[in-house]
Amino acid sequence: MDLVKKLQTERDLSDAEFLALLSTDEYDETLRIAADEERRKVYGDEVFLRGLIEFTNYCKNNCYYCGIRAGNPDADRYRLTKEEILECCKEGYALGYHTFVLQGGEDPYYTDEIICDLVRSIKELFPDVAVTLSIGEKEKSSYAKYKEAGADRYLLRHETASEDHYSFLHPSNLSLSHRKQCLYDLKDLGFQVGAGFMVGSPGQELKHILADIRFLQKLQPDMIGIGPFIPHKDTPFKDEKQGSLELTLRILSIIRLCFPYVLLPSTTALGTIAVNGRELGLQHGANVVMPNLSPVEFRKQYSLYDGKICTGEESAQCKDCLSLRVKSAGYRIVNDRGDVKR
Ligand code: SAH
Repeated sequence: MDLVKKLQTERDLSDAEFLALLSTDEYDETLRIAADEERRKVYGDEVFLRGLIEFTNYCKNNCYYCGIRAGNPDADRYRLTKEEILECCKEGYALGYHTFVLQGGEDPYYTDEIICDLVRSIKELFPDVAVTLSIGEKEKSSYAKYKEAGADRYLLRHETASEDHYSFLHPSNLSLSHRKQCLYDLKDLGFQVGAGFMVGSPGQELKHILADIRFLQKLQPDMIGIGPFIPHKDTPFKDEKQGSLELTLRILSIIRLCFPYVLLPSTTALGTIAVNGRELGLQHGANVVMPNLSPVEFRKQYSLYDGKICTGEESAQCKDCLSLRVKSAGYRIVNDRGDVKR
């Protein structure tokens, strides 16, 4: 049996088979067709929207790849007030969004109390939306408070599942074991959990991607965020090359075949390295897009990587542009919470 057929029916391959699939473009079109078939079996032509609110670019961490790292003195820092955040939600709700993602650097200004108050306020105003947090590594007791306040989901990419590669991408005060522990804590507390990694990050080899797949098989997350690495001018990785479109698409298809039910975003980073990147992502197995709901005046400041798209338009324009893109790719946006279909 050929590799793609085998992956499609068994949802798994041997290490050697995964590496074979990852290392050539020979299977790309069959992979794409199989991935699209599987996504349509579970989700039809539906695409879910997540309204992304980037509420702070302060960060205490110093990840070598990220433009808002603490060690970047040239980052122009901002924080959104509760009123500004709720205003984004109101705009988003009027546009049909039923999930809000609060994402930021690890900013100690936002204490657990402040985060919980934000979550509660959003849930009070819009009881039928899902609230997703993406604010990094915390104690389990903090995650428990967020859950108690009504948060439904949590995005925390594991970044890479290999120790050596993790320490190549991060300073020594950050550890893979703690990042993984956070993901298991979040699962344990009943969050819908998102993990994931960048494609083509400096030092990444195919064996690391294989380890990522193996880790995801163990974790069984509800969401998997995958996008190309893109260098940022103010980071130690400024001269590294960006992740490839082809490999990112190949991995999206492989992930869809391993995890047919998974919520898989076609990321802004993918849309940044190719004009039709997000459309291609959808056609390769992705079923989620995360348009920016942040206030336009701050969008350029949430600069994780250079050249980020969608930093100029108003939220309504973003939605219209994306609707057209989703449609042109052959899918349809649905305005519901878009929970995972296990
Ligand atoms: N502080 C939060 C949110 C991080 S930003 C956290 O720790 O989870 C969201 C994601 O952007 C990161 O998980 C990372 O995978 C991605 N990212 C950061 N820098 C990037 C870059 N230069 N290129 C592409 N993606 C990047």
